[in-house]
Amino acid sequence: MDLIFLGTSGATPTQHRNLPAIALRLDSGHLIVFDTGEDIQRQFEAANLRFNVPTTIFISHLHGDHVIGLPGLLFNFHLNSRSKALTIVGPLGLASFLMSLHQIVGLKASNYALTVKEIVPPQLKTDVKEVKEVKEGTEDTKNTEDTENAEVQVITYTNFLKPTYERRVTIQSHRKLIEKWEFGVKFSWMDHSVPTMAFRFEEAPLDGKFSPERAIELRVPKGPLWKRMQKGQSITLKNGTLIDPVETGIVTRPRRGRIIVYSADTAKCEAIVSLAHDADYFICEATYGSEHEDLAVEKKHLTARFAGEIARDAQVVQLILTHFSSRYKDVSSLLEEAQVVFPRTQVAEDLLQIAIYPREELS
Ligand SMILES: [Zn+2]
Ligand SMILES: [Zn+2]
Repeated sequence: MDLIFLGTSGATPTQHRNLPAIALRLDSGHLIVFDTGEDIQRQFEAANLRFNVPTTIFISHLHGDHVIGLPGLLFNFHLNSRSKALTIVGPLGLASFLMSLHQIVGLKASNYALTVKEIVPPQLKTDVKEVKEVKEGTEDTKNTEDTENAEVQVITYTNFLKPTYERRVTIQSHRKLIEKWEFGVKFSWMDHSVPTMAFRFEEAPLDGKFSPERAIELRVPKGPLWKRMQKGQSITLKNGTLIDPVETGIVTRPRRGRIIVYSADTAKCEAIVSLAHDADYFICEATYGSEHEDLAVEKKHLTARFAGEIARDAQVVQLILTHFSSRYKDVSSLLEEAQVVFPRTQVAEDLLQIAIYPREELS
């Protein structure tokens, strides 16, 4: 699994930094993309990413710097006869944005299944009657919004950009946006000038570590039995001996899957500290240095020091800063500022590729 930073500038691009976009390439080949800054399709090329693989795109918010690259990428997919399914998740408004491009500039998704999921910000719940009556007293308050189990309204469009598309409104009682066998993605609302989500990617538990030496020592013949033991399953040998691979030390207990949290634009808030709690990798905006703290507060962004404080409070392992204001040609001052608070910080640059390791290999 690896992360590839496709754009690391905020608001406007610079000579060396494109607008926000990050790819997470899973071992299965599935591609996850967080935000789609302008020119993301060329960065796909530059990073040697494959265009036609199952892909899920998460859009944090509908500010231009995070979403303008999406039409270009979809045109590219269409022109190159994409066949693999694509799901795009983002805040309410995403479908209208794409639909207007469909109607005005002919954006299409002819050969592949395009699903769009709009997450409705709590203050904008719509069409609730389509699915159920609103119960009295369930109007959103700050309190319910902050819990894991707050109600989330999702508008799903299947066969999107095709004449046969369907729209469905559902209410779910959890914050999981995507749940597949190999990973799940949760979100929380941040504090920015428009509704903005941050995302938490959680990989399914990983198999324990297998010791072939120990298996040979216990005379388990190589082959299908080894496979089953790698999954933690007990096996019976031909002579009737039952072997529990964990208890006999052939395999360790399942390991926690890798956890990556991405926070795009936000002011400092509690929601990001709880979403990022105990993450292995925390990718966080650091638009400004502390010399512009007043600007950061006014525009609802973070300084590098704020990002460091969030990483410290959330007890993450590794902080990666991105989304730098174009005024910083050199971001070393931002790195130093965050490292004072949270030493294990690095700065992203365009096309930086980071191999993602399980927690116990991260020391
Ligand atoms: Zn931004
Ligand atoms: Zn923004």
